[in-house]
Amino acid sequence: MKKKKGYNKKRSLICRIRAVFFCVLILISSIIITNRYTQSDLEKTKIVQASIEIKQKNKNENLVNLVYESSSNDDASDMNSKNSNIKKENNGEIINSVDEDSNSFDSGKIQDFLTKNIRIEDNKKIAFLTFDDGPSTTVTPKILNILKENNVKATFFIVGKQLEETAEAKNILLETYKQGHAIANHTYSHNYSKLYPHGIVDVNSFMAEVEQNNNILKGVLGESFASRVIRFPGGHMSWKAVSEIDKKLEDKNYKYIDWNALIGDAEGGPKTKDQLMKRYHQTFVGQEKVVLLMHDTYGKQSTAEALPYIIGDLKSKGYEFRTLK
Ligand SMILES: [Zn+2]
Repeated sequence: MKKKKGYNKKRSLICRIRAVFFCVLILISSIIITNRYTQSDLEKTKIVQASIEIKQKNKNENLVNLVYESSSNDDASDMNSKNSNIKKENNGEIINSVDEDSNSFDSGKIQDFLTKNIRIEDNKKIAFLTFDDGPSTTVTPKILNILKENNVKATFFIVGKQLEETAEAKNILLETYKQGHAIANHTYSHNYSKLYPHGIVDVNSFMAEVEQNNNILKGVLGESFASRVIRFPGGHMSWKAVSEIDKKLEDKNYKYIDWNALIGDAEGGPKTKDQLMKRYHQTFVGQEKVVLLMHDTYGKQSTAEALPYIIGDLKSKGYEFRTLK
């Protein structure tokens, strides 16, 4: 009996040791497994985060090529001053050439960037403020004041027919030029049915209007004025059969500039300042080079109202402002 009792005690002790051993084993296993899963989850989270960042980066880069269709009848125009002989005011006299214009940027690079997604490897955040369809005697002066107050230069795409309407409009154009902004070509009439019958570019008509507009600009700004920068009314991206006109423009060293962000001031009816700022944030999502489409023609007062906010936003994000030459 004694022997059996001792045996049972010993057996019970072994059982307890085994139980404790198993408990410890299970505990260690749990810790290892939990840790492994936690690490795994962390890795997954990192991968997902990285993937989101890459997608966002790609999205931003793709925006460079984004084509914003516009319902407006007045959306595209880019005029660039020619390389040489763009005049600037100096002590009341216009004398300097555009080659010395530190605000200007090569429009050829911007055309390639917008149309072929050829990156500009300078790592600079640059904003090109562009105003189409002017000059107007009501909105353009307000825009000029805001630009002056903020020490910012922009590019104005002029419609010759509108320029011819009043002597005041011509004076405003001259003032725009003297203040160091770039003056570019948005065709003479901005008439879609004449320039693009059935949505197809009429090369002869288009080129004739470009030249006609250049001559009118020279009439106001002086014979030495020349611009190689064009913006197609409605945007180059909106029209069919462009290969012939593209060839023609290339032969004549014209550059056409569309846009990769806008404020919606020519989309549908009149817009409030808040609506324009909202549209601006929808389309400007951090593009390193942003070509912003705006309008300074009649009825676009809210564009002038939104402009200080837009300039402030771009400045706060580290953008410099350049013109298209
Ligand atoms: Zn236009």
